[in-house]
Amino acid sequence: MLGKLRPVGSRVPKPEFPGELELPWQTLYQTYLMGSGTEALSAAVAISIGRKPDVTAPEVILPAYGCPDLIAATVAQSAKPVLVDLEPGRPFMSAVGVKSALTESTVAVVGVGFLGIPERLERLAEICVESNLTLIEDSAQCFPPASSVQGWADLVVLSFGRGKPINLMGGGALLASNANLGNVASTLSQYPLKNQKLGLAWRSMRILFNFLMSRIPFAIIERIPQFAIGETRFHTLDEIFRLEIPSCLLSSGIGDFNLRAPLTFLYNQKLEELESRGWTLLAKHLVNDSGMDQALLRYPLLAPDRLIRDRALERLNGAGIGASAFYEHSLEEIDGIDEILPESECPVAKDFAARLLTLPTHEDVRDGDVSTMARELFRL
Ligand SMILES: *Cc1c(COP(=O)(O)O)cnc(C)c1O
Repeated sequence: MLGKLRPVGSRVPKPEFPGELELPWQTLYQTYLMGSGTEALSAAVAISIGRKPDVTAPEVILPAYGCPDLIAATVAQSAKPVLVDLEPGRPFMSAVGVKSALTESTVAVVGVGFLGIPERLERLAEICVESNLTLIEDSAQCFPPASSVQGWADLVVLSFGRGKPINLMGGGALLASNANLGNVASTLSQYPLKNQKLGLAWRSMRILFNFLMSRIPFAIIERIPQFAIGETRFHTLDEIFRLEIPSCLLSSGIGDFNLRAPLTFLYNQKLEELESRGWTLLAKHLVNDSGMDQALLRYPLLAPDRLIRDRALERLNGAGIGASAFYEHSLEEIDGIDEILPESECPVAKDFAARLLTLPTHEDVRDGDVSTMARELFRL
């Protein structure tokens, strides 16, 4: 197989959008651009801690399956991550689990969107209002954030890194609700400001990055171990910056995102019969049924068991399709995190990690690729 369809990631936009920068959340939230999604999340944790000055050992509620940066952002503020197991067969935190994880020391609940599917923020908002906690929507994988419309979260996190809905080769944003958050500006002002310049170096990197996303270059770099393509690693967060991103770049990113054709309906339709074989098409059950096709960052399925998932990965990758197990492990099983987290039992998250398979949805996926994927999956 010559060339391979990458598992995730859209091209970096050309920074040339001439119009006004329109942000879908601008009536409800103030936008603060940050060095990365992780930095934005860590700043959100700092703000949450500041709103509970009586708590001496702050705790933050997080899902047990997710990005290792959730842990890095939390421990960087000397807060304790408290993992909540998932609802069976779903990427959402168990509602009972969240309630029983609350203590006097809880300062925030992080509702993490999954590949374009937001958490159940309305429920989380109820819990947070009741207990006077900060609700953070981590929307690094979803654009626009679900809070844009209803304003559920107090703080929202966006990422503009590789493999996110809008790829600007880095950067992130913290959105702060216009309502009642007194300490946002004072907390953020302690972080130094960097300026994202779009000079020759940036423009050359953009061309190189975009080139490496094509099928043949991707197939080559994927084989180079130093690039560690697709591996999940834990990195500590050592510094937090505010970032000045030129508005022409951000609006070009949003503009390109809006032009991409969602593939959710096509996948749901082509793969529907897999459900009678014990698979779960998560998007079919969880993407809201508005009649409008909705873009996902990757298309997620749960295999009947780990063995079948692993066989599917092998077959699809052999056929030139970058199918992925995503994080592969629940958070507490990831190297480096297992040492800093207290022992917890999250069997549902482990089962989810063992059965998850994701398929690409980016702008280079053609109808023929979806047919190839369906063919390989039905042959298992
Ligand atoms: C990628 C990601 C982050 C971190 O964003 P970076 O910009 O890469 O630092 C945080 N949370 C989630 C859910 C993510 O997927």
